[in-house]
Amino acid sequence: MSLFHKPDCLFCKIVKGEIPSKKVYEDDQCYAFYDIAPAAPVHFLVIPKTHIGSCGEITPENEALVGHIFSVITKITREMGITDFRVVSNCGPQAGQSVPHLHFHVLSGRDLTWPPG
Ligand code: 5GP
Ligand code: ZN
Repeated sequence: MSLFHKPDCLFCKIVKGEIPSKKVYEDDQCYAFYDIAPAAPVHFLVIPKTHIGSCGEITPENEALVGHIFSVITKITREMGITDFRVVSNCGPQAGQSVPHLHFHVLSGRDLTWPPG
């Protein structure tokens, strides 16, 4: 499959290996790695290898990739023995998105409050 990497995108650089990261899982479509500033005992990110800016850019053309990412999250959490976890994707700065490359946070290992702040 053809991958588009946006120049100067932090997570595209992580996908390319130009910035080191602690890998959790990888296949031809997505990459999972531990968050550098964990907000829970388990906190990793799952990203598409091709550049998509945010949840606001999910389209019929890339929806299968997003579905794949969710099945990968199930696979990873099962292999980690995790049954209770939260999947979060912040879309836009007001919602807390700081890296403009689509990513799904997976948080686990402590009581998580609701609603989020
Ligand atoms: P956002 O704030 O966009 O929802 O999530 C971005 C996440 O990426 C944050 O939780 C932040 O800690 C993480 N992050 C930012 N830079 C790096 C990095 O260079 N390496 C890793 N592993 N995580 C990063
Ligand atoms: Zn990117």
